[in-house]
Amino acid sequence: MGTFEVGLVFSPRIKQDLTIEGMVPLTRFDLVLSGGRVVDPQNGVDAVLDVGIIGGQIAAVESSISGARARRMIDVSGDVVFPGVVDSHVHVGRGRGVGYRMTAAVGVTTLVDFGCAMADLLPGFREGSVGQTVGALYPINRYLSSQDAQRCEIETLVDGALAEGSLGIKIVGGHYPLTPETTAVIIDVANDRRCYVAFHLGTTDTGSHLEGVREVPRLIGDNRLHVAHLNSYCRGMVKDPAEEALEAVSIMDALDDQVVTESYLGTINGTSGKCADGVPESHVTRNCLLMKGYEPSVKGLRQAIADGFGYVRVERGGHMVLVGGEEGVELWEAVDTDLPMSFPVNSPQATFITATAKNDRDEFIVDAISTDGGGNPRNVAVERGMALVRYGALTLQELAEKVSAAPAEMLGLTSKGHLGEGADADITVIDPVEGVARMAVAGGQLIMLGGVVIGDGGSILTTSNGVSTLTEAACPASAVDLEQSRLYQ
Ligand SMILES: [Zn+2]
Repeated sequence: MGTFEVGLVFSPRIKQDLTIEGMVPLTRFDLVLSGGRVVDPQNGVDAVLDVGIIGGQIAAVESSISGARARRMIDVSGDVVFPGVVDSHVHVGRGRGVGYRMTAAVGVTTLVDFGCAMADLLPGFREGSVGQTVGALYPINRYLSSQDAQRCEIETLVDGALAEGSLGIKIVGGHYPLTPETTAVIIDVANDRRCYVAFHLGTTDTGSHLEGVREVPRLIGDNRLHVAHLNSYCRGMVKDPAEEALEAVSIMDALDDQVVTESYLGTINGTSGKCADGVPESHVTRNCLLMKGYEPSVKGLRQAIADGFGYVRVERGGHMVLVGGEEGVELWEAVDTDLPMSFPVNSPQATFITATAKNDRDEFIVDAISTDGGGNPRNVAVERGMALVRYGALTLQELAEKVSAAPAEMLGLTSKGHLGEGADADITVIDPVEGVARMAVAGGQLIMLGGVVIGDGGSILTTSNGVSTLTEAACPASAVDLEQSRLYQ
């Protein structure tokens, strides 16, 4: 920056850049991505342009940037250039950083773990982070003394989580239900603190299905709430999945000012295989078994895994993989049933409806496309999002909105989700023929090329409450002002 490029003044290309006569400082870019189709809905950009990066920020988006002005230039002609993909709902906490590599490999530059205390997240982040920006929500259910915990206990846990560096709270009601009263108090306490609050729907009165969606207006009062993975409550437990999805989006539409939501495009879900007292602890796991006519017990779960309906999730070769059949049963029994699991229970009809539904003002009702992936091998937001583009269900602009601009806004990340001058240099380059991300840049650093993850470092996204703790722990942190988030605006 600001160096005098006297020796280059005679190049005809460089001369065009001289707007003031004589010697002027010419911008030198650290990295230029040239010739890609830049799709940046926030700035109304959809054109073949060069993107110049300096010091981790977007410095120029122009029709042509001379190679002489770039320390490094990468030709991305024929590719689509998105603002970096923000996955607003993943799980990376467990698995020694495997989830970071799995998400970076598909172009994710920012992610939020929906259910991991900061103390549990940091070891894996230190060991395995790959240059991304990472936030985490505290899974409050795990730490409450009972299903009907009182306000003072909830306040202590929420304040502790924020001081530790969490962005906010996740209520994992669908798996481990709390009473409606306690659930409503958690939402209220989080709103009082103006921290992030996400809810996997379901209480002791309802469950992780359409009844859980119908319960939201009763729980929310005049508060704000992030409704997690709207598609997942539409698996046909109450009525036809497509009808469930239509009702779920209409409930969200009516709560438009108070809720933000996301849906994912994967076929499999994510749950726990852990059993206690002869039954799976997770109510979602019980639901999955009931859906296919299995008994919601240890015996039923063993049979479902043996039959290849349920899969346990284990790490192999630096990735998490799904294993079913007798091998899956052996792995599951070897650790006393305590393994994450997946079932192929998501309805394609409900997935399509939740991903594409719009309101009267032609805005998406479900704000974002997430994955609920990370360490769960279903990081398909770009791949299946591009399939929706090819199908004609979304435009490229709309996909960029749903995987980057909107989730950045949901989290109040004003310098992410777009490629305006001064924005963070987070970029996802997509091959439109293959329909997959082929390059990712985070904070100006190339973190993935051709599916191979090459980044390191990264930073933790926190609130002003958590900065000092993370700084003391020598962890790079940046504070977000959630008053700026779509959740609270
Ligand atoms: Zn989740």
